[in-house]
Amino acid sequence: MEEEREIMEVDVLFVGGGVASLSGALHLSNLIKEHNERIEKGGEGKKLEEAMIAVLEKGAYVGAHGISGAVINPGPLKELVPDFLEKGAPMEGEVRKEGIYLLTKKGKIKSPMTPPFLNNYGNYVISLSRFTEWLGERVEEKGVDIFPGFAGTEVIYDGERVIGVRTGDKGIDPEGQKKANFEPGIDLHAKVTVFGEGSRGSLTKTVINRLGLDRGKNPQNFVVGVKEVWEVPEGRIEPGEVIHTVGYPHDNRTYGGGFIYGMRDNHVSIGLLTGLDYEDPYLDPHREFQRFKEHPLVRELLKDGKLVQYGAKTAPVGGYFSVPRLSFEGGLIIGDSGSLFISQKLKGVHSAMKSGMLAARTIFEGLLKEDFSASHLESYEKALFQSDVGKELYRSRNFHQLFQKGLWSAVFWGGIQWLLGGRILKARLESRPDFTHLKRVADYYGTNSPTEEQRREMKFDGKLTFDKETDVYYSGSTHEEQQPAHLKISDLDICYTRCREEFQNPCQRFCPANVYEVETDEETGKPNMKLNFSNCVHCKTCDVMDPYEVITWVPPEGGGGPKYTMM
Ligand code: SF4
Repeated sequence: MEEEREIMEVDVLFVGGGVASLSGALHLSNLIKEHNERIEKGGEGKKLEEAMIAVLEKGAYVGAHGISGAVINPGPLKELVPDFLEKGAPMEGEVRKEGIYLLTKKGKIKSPMTPPFLNNYGNYVISLSRFTEWLGERVEEKGVDIFPGFAGTEVIYDGERVIGVRTGDKGIDPEGQKKANFEPGIDLHAKVTVFGEGSRGSLTKTVINRLGLDRGKNPQNFVVGVKEVWEVPEGRIEPGEVIHTVGYPHDNRTYGGGFIYGMRDNHVSIGLLTGLDYEDPYLDPHREFQRFKEHPLVRELLKDGKLVQYGAKTAPVGGYFSVPRLSFEGGLIIGDSGSLFISQKLKGVHSAMKSGMLAARTIFEGLLKEDFSASHLESYEKALFQSDVGKELYRSRNFHQLFQKGLWSAVFWGGIQWLLGGRILKARLESRPDFTHLKRVADYYGTNSPTEEQRREMKFDGKLTFDKETDVYYSGSTHEEQQPAHLKISDLDICYTRCREEFQNPCQRFCPANVYEVETDEETGKPNMKLNFSNCVHCKTCDVMDPYEVITWVPPEGGGGPKYTMM
């Protein structure tokens, strides 16, 4: 029997409480307030009623799932909160010193110059979780309702028009039965629903598929970033200092690189990005990150320091040609959910904020005209592609595809393309979904089993390098254990047969939180998938990388997941 659900009507619903949605909600509140003040002073037009704006956030608090490098271009922030420093925005440091290194296993070569697209002078190092929490406070001050601990689990349609989102039921046991504390989710109906769920948004994905928003576009491509924050002895790195690396531990066919960002109070943010279009079925992004820390450059920095926090997250790097249509009847897509990350610049915070603000402008005009049709909402997309963010996306449009031809091809052609303002390589270079690049073990290693050296196995010392379980502890990730697993595997037989034989179950390696373990029953010799779903840090790698596309990540009961405070 269909559950009776409360229906809540709002004007504007933002799904996801990250920087894109929060910037959108704050800008919309400001636009409405300024408009009404102008009318009160005798300006033309009619006052807008107080619009009800709501933000759904699946994390336990705003910022709990916020993770990025991160270096922010403050342009959109200055527009949104001009006095952000006076208002206590938690900037870790302004970038005054930066360097790029090519790493070999033991050595390093410093680049004599910083390519213009990686120039960060005047930007700020931030902790995205701290920054998001601060931005959330600014939004709440404006009277916007933020609902932390509530995940959107289903999109509600009227025909092909999006009319809102259903939140997840709470109090369901692992067998799908109601527990004593059962609470049905509510249906939030909105004039316009804005999807700002971040990378590989679970509802955004369904909207894109249902409405064919990616028709004629490249597929979205992703990197996974694995990151730790450390406290180090005083004087090791300045707040705001930025170091980027290429090379070790990646080979030149693997997209990605390392980052080291100085934070306040002797903290440092260290991470490694790995493109999910890698070929090696034994590659493990978490282990590669641990190897990165063993490089003398990083080892020396972290010596006598201590691990403070751990996390992981995908980021969309497909660029301009993989941006889906971002507007449709009743809805918009903003931020990383729309693949608006500028991969060549390693930046997505400013583009997410700007997209939220431009969406807010379109929604504000829609409120004035009472028009949320696709033809009105389309003006958001036009404004986005005319903005600085759109120009950055266009200028770097084939960068990721160039990388699929190797590191040096991307550095050379990508650099020239940027310098010439995007005047070469105009046409779309094709790309494929990431998982299609993964090779079968026999194709990658030949018919002999790979050696330990080839598998790059390593022992973790518990001081500099950590296994996944230890790292997950530092993410603070927890989930209600008595609920259905939120990793849905549609066909376990494939896991036990073809995937095991051909790829040796790569989920055990690409998941940075040890969620997937394929055990062999001692008596029967049969494989059994053990899902440690409580470990999940919501990075979405498995949703992208599974070679048979049998894994789907869905939101767990609201409030579950990591509890980031410094990521
Ligand atoms: Fe990431 Fe999937 Fe592992 Fe969760 S289960 S941590 S989403 S790879």
